[in-house]
Amino acid sequence: MYDPLTHNQIPRDHERGVQSYWASNTELPAFDASPLPGSADVVVIGAGYTGLNAAIELAQRGREVVLIDAGGIGAGCSSRNAGFLLPGTGRLSFSDYQKSFGFDTACAVQQEFATSITHVEAMVDASDVSCDLLHTRYLRLAHSAKMAAQLQRQQSLYAHTALTAHWLSPDDIAQQVPGLSWNHGGLEVTPARAVNPRALVGVYLQHALNAGVRCVPHHPVVAWQKQGSGHQLTTPSGTIRANHVLLCSNGYLAKSPFPQLSARQMPVLSSILVTRPLTQHEQNAQGLRINDMMMDTRTLKYYYRLLPDGRLLFGGRGAVTGASESHPRHRARLEAAVQATFPSLQGLTSDFYWSGWISVALDSMPRVYSPEAGVYTSMGYCGAGVAFASLAGKRLAQLVAGDSLPELPFYQSALPRFPLPQLRRLALRTFYALQRG
Ligand SMILES: Cc1cc2nc3c(=O)[nH]c(=O)nc-3n(C[C@H](O)[C@H](O)[C@H](O)COP(=O)(O)OP(=O)(O)OC[C@H]3O[C@@H](n4cnc5c(N)ncnc54)[C@H](O)[C@@H]3O)c2cc1C
Repeated sequence: MYDPLTHNQIPRDHERGVQSYWASNTELPAFDASPLPGSADVVVIGAGYTGLNAAIELAQRGREVVLIDAGGIGAGCSSRNAGFLLPGTGRLSFSDYQKSFGFDTACAVQQEFATSITHVEAMVDASDVSCDLLHTRYLRLAHSAKMAAQLQRQQSLYAHTALTAHWLSPDDIAQQVPGLSWNHGGLEVTPARAVNPRALVGVYLQHALNAGVRCVPHHPVVAWQKQGSGHQLTTPSGTIRANHVLLCSNGYLAKSPFPQLSARQMPVLSSILVTRPLTQHEQNAQGLRINDMMMDTRTLKYYYRLLPDGRLLFGGRGAVTGASESHPRHRARLEAAVQATFPSLQGLTSDFYWSGWISVALDSMPRVYSPEAGVYTSMGYCGAGVAFASLAGKRLAQLVAGDSLPELPFYQSALPRFPLPQLRRLALRTFYALQRG
């Protein structure tokens, strides 16, 4: 599998061979790919949620936009995630934001996350493409008494946000999710949404085409050069000049063409399996409902949901390197985690298994900013970008257009550089080993 830390450049069609459940059943709207033009006002690199939303916003404002991807549209995580629209990023909680930035900013950050879900909903509502957007609960399931106490402390803080949190006691959980092998209670957070992530790419693609965005798939950008006040981008099949370049690669950023940026994020594999459809009896016995998205509180979390066709989707951390991703032990480890979580689903194996590169920021906080004159980026979603990457793409476009962004930490500084970027892999390997031990 393509590995951003070992490949100097992203290969064309790097997603070939990824056998995701979503790719097996979800077609994107048909469109005619544009040939690479010689120049454009704005070039967006990366056609995931970030790049598509940035392109839509700028094209709707009348800008000439070319959207380029190394693979097909949605070749990265955007077509292969779990489809949880989370009211936050994966790692930091309201109390973390409160500690770092104070109470008012923490409330404003939480409000921005709520806005990101509203943004996705508005885009879906304004589209003919259907994407199974469901109203759900987001259940944070405590895996230990210590984490239960922490979740209970967090509950009251939600009162200051656009979200509602209810504490579910161990008795509540035993009644509602009886199949779980462990139970220390949990937090029910609403509103939340679940979606077919690849179909959501289709929603955005349709908006982009309607707005006049020229989509150029299968063109890896392998070099970038400043040219006067503009930029020249090189692909294996030609070059393009641009006044503005938006880098929307998230975890798929190779060392080239922006080595200084690649040292500011850590690509990490996240993996998902999807089982056969569960019978109605099995679903009832486990307490699995399509309107629940569940995530435990482990440092290396597992997340799961029942899909509309009755299959169980179950995700967690992936391999350390792209080269080892296809080793059967990783799929077996995730299958074992399903058994450990729902022991009465004896012998349940996976029909689908795949992985994707998420982007981890040093301080677990994504950023939207301009690292160079005329270059803009948004990345570092730490595994939770379905909702926030969509809004961040729009914010990125607003930055290009000269609008002022909300005064929030994501929009006020650069991604911090990893102190010894060459040791990121070793650090990850050590971290995983410590969690196991
Ligand atoms: C297994 C898994 C499960 C996940 N589950 C969830 C979830 O349930 N909820 C949630 O909120 N988040 C989830 N995420 C994370 C979420 O999918 C991402 O945060 C989000 O999709 C990021 O969108 P993006 O557009 O920024 O990046 P991506 O969708 O990754 O797109 C980046 C694009 O850039 C292109 N690219 C990179 N470099 C170049 C170049 N040089 N030239 C041309 N093209 C280039 C790539 O081909 C790729 O298409 C999950 C991720 C994974 C891997």
